[in-house]
Amino acid sequence: MARRLTGFTPSGNLHLGNYLGALRPIIEGTGDTVVFISDLHALTLDHDPADVRDRTLEFATLLLAAGLDPDACLFMVQSHVPEHTELHYLLECATGYGEAQRMIQFKEKSRRQQQVRMSLLTYPILMAADILLYDTDEVPVGDDQSQHVELARDIAIRFNGRYGDTFTVPRAVNPPVAARVMDLSSPTEKMSKSTSSAAGALRLLDEPDAVRRKVMRAVTDTGTTVTYDPAGSPGVANLLDILAGCTGARPDDLAAGFDRYGELKKAVADAVVDTLTPIQDRYRKLAAQPDHVRDVLRAGAARARAAAGATVDRAKAAIGLLPA
Ligand code: AMP
Repeated sequence: MARRLTGFTPSGNLHLGNYLGALRPIIEGTGDTVVFISDLHALTLDHDPADVRDRTLEFATLLLAAGLDPDACLFMVQSHVPEHTELHYLLECATGYGEAQRMIQFKEKSRRQQQVRMSLLTYPILMAADILLYDTDEVPVGDDQSQHVELARDIAIRFNGRYGDTFTVPRAVNPPVAARVMDLSSPTEKMSKSTSSAAGALRLLDEPDAVRRKVMRAVTDTGTTVTYDPAGSPGVANLLDILAGCTGARPDDLAAGFDRYGELKKAVADAVVDTLTPIQDRYRKLAAQPDHVRDVLRAGAARARAAAGATVDRAKAAIGLLPA
């Protein structure tokens, strides 16, 4: 069975796109999955230490509240498994400087910064370590991250070729198109933890009032009829996609049931509230037991270390390090 890996970086707020596009397919899938909170990746840009720490626990709690079964997958915090950083260094020794510099995310993010952290250049190599450590076959990513999965692939092929068969070669897979949730106020952009405004993203912990307000104010267009046309009417199509994601119906079938945008928005708001309320109820119960969540994470890290340790041993031996 193909192994898949997904990381959630603890910066910003988890939103409906993370849930419909990444989390729910894992929860409802039957596959072999690695899910981790990628806290080391939250350190590449200016960050507040307390915020990263608090969000790491919040994200872990929310993932469990959303229904992630920690016994059915590998679930841990990245920094609890030191093999990630250990393999990162070995992979740096198999990566060219120019290769890292070519990453579009590096070019874009470094342009916006006055002081660029070294880790902004090297985090795609840490991402390669995240992927290769667990013999991952498939990494579901949006377009913005596919270049990084290509890099992981290139590094694995090069390392295997130069030092002998060590890593499973991963590939990027596209999440289902309908699972791509767009920003409510700017529907040609992806709903994003880092770039969406508060009005543009439906956060998993948004109160029902906030959800209704944001959906009712969502950008549509100047037309009046409700049709499913992602290119011509992206705002309405996004609302139909969200409704489809929450109800299981098809967006084009749903379109036929509405005469006006206002009716559609009301139905979307109700569906999102119905989807989020049980998650939020479970979140509040779990958040009251942080020690339980920490225990789950500790157990997950122990299991992850067993798998990751074997890979690091293989890589160390192959690259020429003397066993201790
Ligand atoms: P990120 O928010 O970039 O840390 O991504 C965490 C996971 O959520 C990744 O698997 C992303 O592909 C997925 N994801 C992020 N934003 C969206 C979105 N707007 N629609 C669907 N999936 C998303």
